[in-house]
Amino acid sequence: MTGESPTNTNIAETTNTRVKNCIFCDLIAANDPNTILEPRSDQFVIIKDIKPVATHHFLVLCDKHIKSAKSLQPNEQDCNLLKSMVAAAKQILLNNGCDLNDTRMGFHWPPFYSIGHMHLHAISPASSMSVFNRLVAFNPSFSYVFVDVDYVLKRIGCKDKNETENPPSVT
Ligand SMILES: [Zn+2]
Ligand SMILES: [Zn+2]
Repeated sequence: MTGESPTNTNIAETTNTRVKNCIFCDLIAANDPNTILEPRSDQFVIIKDIKPVATHHFLVLCDKHIKSAKSLQPNEQDCNLLKSMVAAAKQILLNNGCDLNDTRMGFHWPPFYSIGHMHLHAISPASSMSVFNRLVAFNPSFSYVFVDVDYVLKRIGCKDKNETENPPSVT
């Protein structure tokens, strides 16, 4: 047993502190206004990726040290965290004049991530990425190297606003 099933609730709850030797925890603790972008909240922090794969490449880090999107739990708290990170990613892309229709957003999925602190990639314009980045490294359709937001939302059972407002039709 790996203890990584979505029903294991102790992962997210025990990670509400900064972790030593985590580059992202250090960065959040340093709180440098030259590094940390707007919008900012107590749930997330946005920075620029140091190795951008397109003109705009942001990382939305969760404030808490959660290992990866795979560690998110099927509860309202993690659902709201995820949604607020996505909203922030869209906001900073719009603030930078990006076209949301030409954007790639998602998470690297274990074991294919370099930093074990959950971060959402927001990349635009997606069409300008190299073939490798577009088709492999940042492609949610290619195996499980990189997953999109919908995949994670579904995995932890997040209800879409539309889903709750429109009950499924009976055929
Ligand atoms: Zn961390
Ligand atoms: Zn990453």
